[in-house]
Amino acid sequence: RRANLATLRDLPAVTKDGVPIELMINAGLREDVAALDLTGARGIGLFRTEFQFLVSATLPARERQQRLYRDVLDAAGDRPVIFRTVDIGGDKALPYMNTDTALEENPAMGWRALRLALEREGLLKVQARALMEAAAGRTLNVMFPMVSEPWEYEAARDLFVGQRAWLASHNKKLPVAIRYGAMLEVPGLVETLDLMLPHLDFLSIGTNDLTQFLFAADRAHPRLAERYDWLSPTVMRYLSRVVKIVAGSKVALGVCGEMGGRPLEAMALLGVGIERLSITPAGVGPVKAMIRSLHLGALRAAMPAILAQPAADPRGQYQQWASAHGV
Ligand code: PEP
Ligand code: MG
Repeated sequence: RRANLATLRDLPAVTKDGVPIELMINAGLREDVAALDLTGARGIGLFRTEFQFLVSATLPARERQQRLYRDVLDAAGDRPVIFRTVDIGGDKALPYMNTDTALEENPAMGWRALRLALEREGLLKVQARALMEAAAGRTLNVMFPMVSEPWEYEAARDLFVGQRAWLASHNKKLPVAIRYGAMLEVPGLVETLDLMLPHLDFLSIGTNDLTQFLFAADRAHPRLAERYDWLSPTVMRYLSRVVKIVAGSKVALGVCGEMGGRPLEAMALLGVGIERLSITPAGVGPVKAMIRSLHLGALRAAMPAILAQPAADPRGQYQQWASAHGV
């Protein structure tokens, strides 16, 4: 019933009832960009810029950052790339940078990502210039990790706007457009999301961090890893609520956590209204096969009943629906 994965590469990610789904990949190294051609993905929905920082012995200078970003954009060609500003600190500590992580009892909830970048402003300014110069003459897509309140997003975007003005005043070539996005990884952000929407171009849900904060459960903990399911109504109702909040706006909403790389989870995401996924390259074939076998209208009609069930076996419900509907 399913075309083999090589054939699938060149087929569109469209559901049986004609809904196009945007399938992108997550990447972090120059070498990862080759996966675009191998998978047929539409672009890079999450480029984790901290990888370069993590594999370097010293803080990467602006020229080195710029070279990486330009190489990635060149290799991607017409396909969009979303660069996420550095998500360092916490458990991704840099040996050459004093982040005082020894003082942290809960590094995942610590001084990391945008929190750190807004205080180490020089770091973010250098990255902003490197990204803008690398994207000269093209569209730059940039997103900020671990936004907890709208003012953090505003401050980061203001910093980019300031750097753009600085580059312009020094007659540097600039991107033709800059699109700004935020990651939704801190559950509390949903309470003020409406205030951010008018200033956002896109929003990307990071389900890895989001679920660990939603359940207050460290997913790397061996005793907890299997305890809560991504398909739990807790997660799916939360995501459904986010979709409704974003629906009336022009903001493009997607998911870039690992959850979207598994066919059954990806099906559930489509079911609650997510139509953009950025996933691990190995997931593109299997997820596209699922998409092409799915009647999305039928699934959406079934979702209220699925979300109304108690949480005992949420996975079983999606599995049953899938096998009963030829997915
Ligand atoms: C996430 O938290 O879901 C995410 C995509 O970011 P990272 O995995 O890099 O923390
Ligand atoms: Mg994250």
